[in-house]
Amino acid sequence: MKIFNEMTGQKEEFVPIGDPVKMYVCGVTPYDNSHFGHAMSYIFFDVIRRYIKFSGFKLKYVQNVTDIDDKIINRANQRGISTSELTENFTASYFADMDALNIIRPDITPKATEEIPKIMEVVDRLIEKGYAYQTNDGSVYFRISKDEDYGKLSRRTLDMMMAGARIEIGEQKEHPMDFALWKAAKPGEPSWDSPWGKGRPGWHIECTAMSIKYLGEQIDIHGGGQDLVFPHHENEIAQSESYSGKVPFAKYWMHNGFLQIAEEKMSKSLGNMLTIKDVMARRSADAIRVFVLSSHYRSPLSFTWDGLESAEKGAERLSRAANRADSPDLSSDVLETVTYRREFVEAMDDDFNSAKAMGILFDLAREINQAADSGKNIENARNLLKQLAREVMGLRLEVQEHTAESIEAAPFIELLIRTRYELRQAKQYQMADQIRKTLADLGILLDDTPTGTTWKNKK
Ligand SMILES: [Zn+2]
Repeated sequence: MKIFNEMTGQKEEFVPIGDPVKMYVCGVTPYDNSHFGHAMSYIFFDVIRRYIKFSGFKLKYVQNVTDIDDKIINRANQRGISTSELTENFTASYFADMDALNIIRPDITPKATEEIPKIMEVVDRLIEKGYAYQTNDGSVYFRISKDEDYGKLSRRTLDMMMAGARIEIGEQKEHPMDFALWKAAKPGEPSWDSPWGKGRPGWHIECTAMSIKYLGEQIDIHGGGQDLVFPHHENEIAQSESYSGKVPFAKYWMHNGFLQIAEEKMSKSLGNMLTIKDVMARRSADAIRVFVLSSHYRSPLSFTWDGLESAEKGAERLSRAANRADSPDLSSDVLETVTYRREFVEAMDDDFNSAKAMGILFDLAREINQAADSGKNIENARNLLKQLAREVMGLRLEVQEHTAESIEAAPFIELLIRTRYELRQAKQYQMADQIRKTLADLGILLDDTPTGTTWKNKK
């Protein structure tokens, strides 16, 4: 098995450090509903994890929840609720989305606010070793001038980084690129007692602390979106390797490509953000997985509703072939599957080329249908298709009823939901309720959750 390692810029043979394989993927900041980019990234890492296990390795997978940060504090203040109420709602919403997409939950999902002692221990040791320093206001910064190979993952020199660097007013850093490990508390913000005064952890330090606590000082795979290469992952490396003195912190650095959204085709009724719930209201989880996996994880993925519609048809084709009945006049001819299995494994062994592997499943589905028509025995082929599609690609292979009407109606239903929301804001409850009732008569059921209104077609 070969993996493209961002650190070396090359595909390398996958040789784990030990048993089990240790994998860490940066998690979400739960201040809003998750968007489709999250679905894309976590589907890819789900398949990477599934395939490593399919190949016979044991694996331990950790993914954090960043439940304290500026965006969370701002959003909670806007809504007049506590940060913990906000993050609990959206963490639950995130896991509901992941479950719906058939993404296997990580083995451990630590939350930043529950890992403060470990975070403080790491910060403390970095100060002791001279890699970090405290400022007068009670913040702690990482001293990048002490870290000789800072910039090795993103291949940036300090001069290149300096171009975009700035010192915020009030910051007392030694160097503009030094980054916060511990942020002194501001009035009204959640804070924890520490040796440096009341404050809260910076973002980068939590991943170092959690990765080391749950997986050890050196791990096999560290993953995330392309946008995390710099500064987040660069800073994780600086902190972790300075803390432990062990290199490398992670043996293989993996990053998925960007999601591109063709704006003009987007329904603007629910704002500019395309949430996972929006897409799940119109398309099945299998369709979303087929759509995402038909692209290579490192390539950019272009979102279109047309693309998802073809993926839905593709998912139905796979499902039908996997559930195809034997011909009534079965011959003794058996459909051979060795080549399909070998080619699937070759594709996935080549840096998880799911696009190619998905193509092989479609070829297999086509041949199953042809073979069944001509009376061949398709039992093995059907089982192979089921195994690869379910175990590795995470498909459920249950043909979903997504009727044409409900797909066409979706933008209008969303518009009505939005109108109902605005009526309720204006305290016109009677009219708002009329919308809910009329939709219910048409078979569209609304569900008001703490994170917004979702709908389903009961027909
Ligand atoms: Zn991280």
